[in-house]
Amino acid sequence: MLQIKQIKKTYKTGDLVQHALKGVDLNLRDNEFVAILGPSGSGKTTLLNIIGGLDRYDSGDLIINGISTKKYKDKDWDSYRNHTVGFVFQSYNLIPHQTVLSNVELALTISGISKSERREKALKALEEVGLREQAHKKPNQMSGGQMQRVAIARALVNDPDILLADEPTGALDSETSVQVMDLLQEVAKKRLVVMVTHNPELAEEYATRIVKVKDGNIIDDSNPFVVDASAVGQEQHKNMGKLSMSFLTSLSLSFNNLMTKKTRTLLTAFAGSIGIIGIALILALSTGVNSYIENIQKDTMTSYPISIDAKSFDLSDIMGSGMDPNSENEKVNHDKDKVYSNGTQIETASKMATSITENNLTPFKKYLDNPNSEIHKYVGDVGIVYSYDVKFDAFAYDKNGALVNTDGSTLSVGNNSNLSAMNSMMEARNSMVGSSLSVSNDTFQQLMPGKNNELVSDVVKDSYEMVHGNWPKSENDVVLVLNKNNEIPLTALYALGLLPSEDYQDLMDSVENDDNFKAKQYDFDYDKITEQKFYVVPSSDYYVSNGDGTFSYIGDDESEVKKLLKNAEELNISGIIRPKEDASNANLTGAIGYTQALSNKVTKHAKESAVVKAQLKSPDVNVLNGLAFEPDNDKEKIADAKKYIENLNVSDKAALIKTISATSGQSNMMSMDSMSEVQLASLLDSYMQNPDDEVLLSIYNNSISSGSYDDNMTAFGYVSEDKPSSISIYADSFEDKDMISECIEKYNEGVSDENKITYTDFVKVLMSSVTTIINVITYVLIAFVAVSLVVSSIMIGIITYISVLERTKEIGILRAIGASKRNVSQVFTAETFIIGLCSGLIGVGTACLLLIPGNAIIHSLLGTTDVSAYLPVSNALVLIALSVILTLIGGLFPSKAAAKQDPVTSLRSE
Ligand code: ADP
Ligand code: MG
Repeated sequence: MLQIKQIKKTYKTGDLVQHALKGVDLNLRDNEFVAILGPSGSGKTTLLNIIGGLDRYDSGDLIINGISTKKYKDKDWDSYRNHTVGFVFQSYNLIPHQTVLSNVELALTISGISKSERREKALKALEEVGLREQAHKKPNQMSGGQMQRVAIARALVNDPDILLADEPTGALDSETSVQVMDLLQEVAKKRLVVMVTHNPELAEEYATRIVKVKDGNIIDDSNPFVVDASAVGQEQHKNMGKLSMSFLTSLSLSFNNLMTKKTRTLLTAFAGSIGIIGIALILALSTGVNSYIENIQKDTMTSYPISIDAKSFDLSDIMGSGMDPNSENEKVNHDKDKVYSNGTQIETASKMATSITENNLTPFKKYLDNPNSEIHKYVGDVGIVYSYDVKFDAFAYDKNGALVNTDGSTLSVGNNSNLSAMNSMMEARNSMVGSSLSVSNDTFQQLMPGKNNELVSDVVKDSYEMVHGNWPKSENDVVLVLNKNNEIPLTALYALGLLPSEDYQDLMDSVENDDNFKAKQYDFDYDKITEQKFYVVPSSDYYVSNGDGTFSYIGDDESEVKKLLKNAEELNISGIIRPKEDASNANLTGAIGYTQALSNKVTKHAKESAVVKAQLKSPDVNVLNGLAFEPDNDKEKIADAKKYIENLNVSDKAALIKTISATSGQSNMMSMDSMSEVQLASLLDSYMQNPDDEVLLSIYNNSISSGSYDDNMTAFGYVSEDKPSSISIYADSFEDKDMISECIEKYNEGVSDENKITYTDFVKVLMSSVTTIINVITYVLIAFVAVSLVVSSIMIGIITYISVLERTKEIGILRAIGASKRNVSQVFTAETFIIGLCSGLIGVGTACLLLIPGNAIIHSLLGTTDVSAYLPVSNALVLIALSVILTLIGGLFPSKAAAKQDPVTSLRSE
């Protein structure tokens, strides 16, 4: 039962005030068919909308089943419309992009009823209007009458108490009108039907009650209903149930809507994706460039470590200043009127002198060995490499069976000035490259060891290609190092015994004397050249025990050396390597690369050798001559000299007495010349009965080299682990490298002056400009990304707003069948979500496709495949999420606006 009490409604449009309803009183029974008749503009629709809760009355009251609606909130009205009222409109108001079935289901969808139940109820409602068979058609595939019957089915699907129909036959011909009216009459048997109509005949024929309206007032009522006041108030407020629609439902609603306009959706999504494509491309490019830079950085860092040598030479200092001492200063502070002095040369010399520093690496190594030192946070993959001066010789036999020392010392070089100039150039180059490797000679060079005790670092493996054979598998394997053209220096071939050493002198002679000297070209098969063997002789092996606690050096006796070779470690050439075309770390200068494992073996061998053990046992006495190391007082020196002379053999004694007489200026030279060695020796013995201290002291100083403990140990190839000859610290990035420098500065602050460390930072010298370029590029890219983002979100906002405008009618329909404001905005949120998702996917997909030709262009432009733009999966996901979020934000205001739309106005819109 509905009671309408003194309801007034005015519309204000600008200054014009329209009194649509001027205080209407009307009571409606629970079950009757009411027809409202009246001229156009008399307020019929307004009345109907107010009864249906679609429009609000200004004053008066609408009492539903005894409950006043004065205090109804939005959600009460929504629920009332959804559960109690069904609407039928003149223009059917079906949602065109939904099937008939979905249209009918809509009211149930909004109230969150399960899909199967929805289907069942909707089909039942369609059955009632006789259209069950047409359930899967789209509205535009039906006639007007059929559409109106679908609209009635939709109104009935929730089994409402009230059916409101606003000129349902207004757009139909008389025949179909009759069908619809029959249907409404049927419906009215069980519920209240209120129908607005222009057609008095139809009203007379079908309605049970006719109410006439004019100018906002009821002027006639064929069957008024007077409510017994005492019966009212007993009624309970019916629980109308909650309205809830899952986001999934809104998604499917919007998805259906979007599917009906696939091309348009695709285009809008594509438009929205342009920003995303831009960002994706920029990201891909910057990731590509960044990873390239990172690789370069890593390459550079592994090639140019921070290097600290026991004796160091600060290159950056000198490289920074003009290297050429003769260069005339550009800025002169004098006129050309007199003769002036130029101090450049001496200044440079001073700079050179002061840039040579000795570092005490022992305490610094202690600092590095401490795992708590801050510096470890910044050390890169390669880590810290300690190098020690390991002394060993490697010998080979040439094809004539002649023994050659691979350091070239056995070749009869003579005093060839060209060659020595060449050698010193090579040395200078080694120190410039900053190789961390300590090389015992030029031909043999240690390969950088890898991490986790790998024999050869990836740095080397990445820079050199294996031409033949394999990388070393044990410490006895070495590699032959070619240049880019598969060549080895001619001298190295002689030094390695690959060419007969006896030919070497001839070659040198022609170098010196032949004006048109042209070196002959030799070639070797890979298999042949790798047959060459080398024999390692650690320095300690040159010292053999004399049995009396002293040791003798046998290194200059070839037959002894050959004996040593029989038990020596044999080295095999396991592979031949050549620098890769684009290698950035191909800085091996020797012809043979050996592993640090070999160095370690030699070091260990030295440590266990008899001579080292003996010297370690007697740190005060030189095991080479049994004398104390350089005593600090003259008396001991004189005693040592006496002991030395006593142990000399006859010919040595004879030679010594001659020297003594010569230096003491005695004139019996002639007589001495005629004496035999034995006589001379006895002369010395007699002289020694009463020797002159001065003479003995000078003998000590001139003839007895007692050396120092450290010199001996170095000669024996003994390496003390806490005394590295150089330390190389590798970082993976510029930032880390800078932090390492900072850590060293901090270390320096904490130690005494003589323990301060000077280091060489090669990268700083070579790469400082690169970092600024990188930074500029990064900032430019960031700016592009920011602009793209703004453009993209504005675009998406506009697109959503257009969609809202387009779906105004649908919003009205949704509201009429009970959708709340939230439901409406949810539907639009769902739509923006889908568009955002599509935009994101299209954007990322398109970007990925564009990257294929893009990379081809980059590669051909740069002439290298090092820089490849690529979009990491994580970035792609972030971009899709970003697209969705931006679209949601862009669609937020439009969808809020959609929700706020007045349903009445929405329905009136076309
Ligand atoms: P009917 O349905 O009987 O033709 P309506 O109820 O639609 O009449 O309209 C009643 C009066 O109220 C008309 O004069 C109409 O111009 C006015 N009116 C209806 N809706 C609005 C509105 N949203 N804004 C301004 N005036 C309105
Ligand atoms: Mg009307």
